[in-house]
Amino acid sequence: MKLIEPDINFIEKLSKDSGAPLKQCMQCGTCSVICKLSPEENPFPRKEMIWAGWGLKNKLLGDPDIWLCHQCGDCTTYCPRGVKPGDVLSSLRFMSYLHYSKPKFLTSFLSKFQNLPFVIFIPIIIIFTIIYFSTDFQIPSGEINYSKFFPHKQLNISFSILVLLTLVGITISIKSFWKDLKKNMPPKETKNKIFKSFVSAFMEILSHKKFKKCDNNNYRYSAHLMVFYGFITLLFVTFFAILSVLFFEYPLSFFNPIKIAGNLAAISLLTGLSIMILKRFINKELAGNSTYFDWIFLISIYLLVITGVLVEIARLDIWKFAYHIYFVHLVLVWMVIIYLPYTKFGHMIYRITALTYCKFIERG
Ligand code: SF4
Ligand code: SF4
Repeated sequence: MKLIEPDINFIEKLSKDSGAPLKQCMQCGTCSVICKLSPEENPFPRKEMIWAGWGLKNKLLGDPDIWLCHQCGDCTTYCPRGVKPGDVLSSLRFMSYLHYSKPKFLTSFLSKFQNLPFVIFIPIIIIFTIIYFSTDFQIPSGEINYSKFFPHKQLNISFSILVLLTLVGITISIKSFWKDLKKNMPPKETKNKIFKSFVSAFMEILSHKKFKKCDNNNYRYSAHLMVFYGFITLLFVTFFAILSVLFFEYPLSFFNPIKIAGNLAAISLLTGLSIMILKRFINKELAGNSTYFDWIFLISIYLLVITGVLVEIARLDIWKFAYHIYFVHLVLVWMVIIYLPYTKFGHMIYRITALTYCKFIERG
């Protein structure tokens, strides 16, 4: 006999976050049948729905299946009891970030709207201090050249140190997440190697083939693809821009390959994000529950790209606020990249870990 110890607070929180009447699930299994991503053996999300109703918090937060869901909303559309299983899985993924991210308080801090002023204020203070102590703090006159005012070397070194600390946090989070995945879905005998499983999971993410499988919400495939590739390109561009301080003179020419890649990434991101945001307004039900956590992700990256474009245009000497715009852009770069694992961006890290694990244990 197995004793079930329900976590009542967890049930209440999950119901509130997802807006789902968990107790109304009658375990008909329609959601698992309708889901095109659910494996035949031990399918989701029916089993997650009963665990949710029972308040089995640890089982759910370390469940690899919640990461196999791509939030297409098909199951929510067809659930005969209006229990919104797609939204429940989405809220569980959010709870999973909160549970595994290290340091834990950061995700919880970043997920609350009332903390937004501090979230913005922290990079402002750091960047302001670096500029203040490295320059004479005078906006230069004449032709716009950002490196005349912004001490790129000092900024890049501090940024790199913070990125390294973030990577340490990510490694610790993944380790603890992996341990729980193993506990919740123990591996059978497997011939797969972890590295090979990682490569296979990575290729699957690159191709976005799972997104294509959901027909009800297929705009998400193209929108997510544009945002994904745009964002990855921007990460590389930022990395090379930091290194370029050592090899090139600022400002980089408009025809520098780094610039061209950055501009293409900006177009891709703006298009993808615009589709995502519009769809969230046009069809709220299909887009699922939109929380502050989702919006801050979409808005911060949108502003990051827009200020990036403005910084480039302002270089043509047409605005006297060029240096101010550059400052705002820098703050946004720091916010997006350094807070990355503690915001919705973190889903990239947890999804690839869970997918790797599923490939490793040969989950269908
Ligand atoms: S969530 Fe809905 S579709 Fe899924 S088992 Fe429960 S009642 Fe059926
Ligand atoms: S939201 Fe889509 S992918 Fe996720 S469980 Fe439901 S049907 Fe499957």
